Amino acid sequence: MDLKSGLPFWLIKNGLSTNYERLEKNAETDVLIIGSGITGALVAHFLCENNIKCIIVDKRMESTGSTTASTAQLQYEIDEYLFDLIEKVGEKNAVKAYEMCLESIITLEKIVQKLKIDADFKRVPSLYLASDAKGKKDLEKEFEVRKKHGLPVKYLSDKELLSKYNIKRKAALYNNQSAQVDTYKLCQAILNYHRKNSGLKVFSHTDVVKIQSEKNSITATTNKDFSIKANKIAAAPGFESEHLLDEKVMQLSSTYVIVSQPMKSVDLWKEKCLIWETARPYLYIRTTADNRIMVGGFDEPFQDPKKRDALMEKKNKDILKRFKKLFPESKIEIDFYWCGTFGGTKDGLPFIGEHKKHPNMYFALGYGGNGITFSVIAAEMIKDMYLDKYKEDNIFKFDR
Ligand SMILES: Cc1cc2nc3c(=O)[nH]c(=O)nc-3n(C[C@H](O)[C@H](O)[C@H](O)COP(=O)(O)OP(=O)(O)OC[C@H]3O[C@@H](n4cnc5c(N)ncnc54)[C@H](O)[C@@H]3O)c2cc1C
Repeated sequence: MDLKSGLPFWLIKNGLSTNYERLEKNAETDVLIIGSGITGALVAHFLCENNIKCIIVDKRMESTGSTTASTAQLQYEIDEYLFDLIEKVGEKNAVKAYEMCLESIITLEKIVQKLKIDADFKRVPSLYLASDAKGKKDLEKEFEVRKKHGLPVKYLSDKELLSKYNIKRKAALYNNQSAQVDTYKLCQAILNYHRKNSGLKVFSHTDVVKIQSEKNSITATTNKDFSIKANKIAAAPGFESEHLLDEKVMQLSSTYVIVSQPMKSVDLWKEKCLIWETARPYLYIRTTADNRIMVGGFDEPFQDPKKRDALMEKKNKDILKRFKKLFPESKIEIDFYWCGTFGGTKDGLPFIGEHKKHPNMYFALGYGGNGITFSVIAAEMIKDMYLDKYKEDNIFKFDR
């Protein structure tokens, strides 16, 4: 699958990995992880921390799937309103999903600190703007539901929004529990740390084309006909899950991102909050460590790369126009742009854990705007499942 086009900023900023090792003989390990993106890296982190031997394989260059295309806003807020999610999956599970996302940002912060990773992880507040009158009503309802369940949230009126942030919208929800990161750098740093300290092996350009499960083990065969025998496979293939699952569990779309030239601090909004909005598809905005503005959105409900790429220039203009409507005085000019595949599920939640048709496998499929927070959750759950310590009801199971 063609996951992205254009020039993803993170890849240019950080450069390609210098690790090109391919798998060139048969291998054995405790857990084989398919995918070297942020999900695979985090799965490896939790397993390696528990002295479980891991091999990661990736058919691409290391970590160059969706992880390089991400805008990497870390929010506890899921694409689905909490009040909508309650309708879909019940109050207990919906609230739990929100709480787990909140916790996952703290978990990621701890990983960054423990491994001493410099990946521009930064705590920033988040503003969820009402796009119109309906959006305002929805935010009022959402505020009450989140407050009832003790989730961190503040309601901002149009006057407060204007005086504090110079934004003209009817209302917003604010929280100070969000963060941003350079996911590609983070992913590479986690892989390098465990390569050095835990004997993690990562093989790029190694495509898993066949999987055979035995009673107590599982064997993957690569495109070069080498085999890897493991106790379990953890599949973290990002949006390319269909070939491993034999089932379509998500709807794919295309999304577009622009990155500005570095700005002067005074040209940015207060607290450099993450910004998103109630319109669907929504615009999502953040800043970078070197004071660039990154804006994404104007999603199209298809995945066809040719059609997607043909729209890139128009989308850049549309995004810029919409951004300038929000910040009319901004002197924003584009330096980089790209577009990428994006996935979503019916209830906005990921799929994590075992699948009855695929014994000895765990899946970590964290879709949507919370892809990275879901990756953290998936990685920790898979570690517990492998160690037979996972006793809770899995709210992200396939047959929910
Ligand atoms: C434009 C954009 C903006 C986004 N913004 C945000 C955001 O603000 N916040 C957020 O949380 N999330 C966001 N996301 C989502 C987030 O980026 C993804 O959820 C996350 O990067 C997925 O990581 P991954 O490791 O699961 O997948 P990937 O990074 O795609 O890695 C999967 C890897 O698996 C490999 N693979 C697949 N099949 C095989 C096989 N058979 N054999 C070997 N290797 C295989 C692929 O080559 C790939 O490298 C955004 C995504 C996009 C595209």
